[in-house]
Amino acid sequence: MSRWFASVLSERKKQNDGCILIVNWTWLQTTHVAAQYGQTAFLYHIVSKWNADPDAPDNDGRSPLHWAAYKGFADCIRLLLFLDAYRGRQDKEGCTPLHWAAIRGNLEACTVLVQAGKREDLIVTDNTGLTPAQLASDKNHRQVAFFLGNARKLLDKRFDGNSTLGKLSKLGLAPALWCLILLLLVTYMHSVIMASDLPKLTAGFGLLAWLGVFLASGGLALFYRCSRKDPGYIRINVHDPQMKDDEPLLKIEINNPALLAGNWSQLCATCKIVRPLRAKHCSTCDRCVEQFDHHCPWVSNCIGKV
Ligand SMILES: [Zn+2]
Ligand SMILES: [Zn+2]
Repeated sequence: MSRWFASVLSERKKQNDGCILIVNWTWLQTTHVAAQYGQTAFLYHIVSKWNADPDAPDNDGRSPLHWAAYKGFADCIRLLLFLDAYRGRQDKEGCTPLHWAAIRGNLEACTVLVQAGKREDLIVTDNTGLTPAQLASDKNHRQVAFFLGNARKLLDKRFDGNSTLGKLSKLGLAPALWCLILLLLVTYMHSVIMASDLPKLTAGFGLLAWLGVFLASGGLALFYRCSRKDPGYIRINVHDPQMKDDEPLLKIEINNPALLAGNWSQLCATCKIVRPLRAKHCSTCDRCVEQFDHHCPWVSNCIGKV
């Protein structure tokens, strides 16, 4: 460490820079060193207390996120993504943090980056024209190559969110199922209960038939409510523009018991929240859901707390 500080100082001395610049550069390097050694709590402290930049690139264009991904410190990656570190940053060799995680075969690091990322992260190529999956395959990290290949197929299947097909796929099966049940119900009423060419129903059978229609209609109403209801979404943390620049967003969460206990997996990089236990981020709804069980395609909604 002392040699490292000495090199920082001598480098700056050569460039004849002022004292403040030395301090700034030192902090920048500190975030890199914290990420290299997996010191998540320390990283959190210097960013929230001392306003250190969590996304500053070093001389080779590598950010702390690159280092955390290379070393496979998943908690550090979660924190850096939470702090808005740029996933798509390419270093001098054109490598993103995901490339680095793939080169080292860090499956957990790849999982965290892919879950917080988008399809583009998987198809970006480095200076040699290789994607993260190809790099993992080259280095013989079969499990990581398989995971990245599968993640790409899954994201490809989901279509582009802005196209008509993408929007339809996001709607899920609930609207189609609802329309089908309604169509069957109308057919039943028209062709069985009120059919003129069939023998007339007795009062008892008529009552039973209409009771069936009533129950099915009630079922449809409940199905609609189930599909549209908030399953327990957790409010997204929005940065207040009134807040001064020297008061980072994280100060709100500084005394959060989950972070003080080191439960970094409770950080959601997408919603910018420290989620409660048993809450998870749903990739389809793109929100964190309390007491998350699963996302049900049949009701096109999450199965959660509510
Ligand atoms: Zn979330
Ligand atoms: Zn969902």
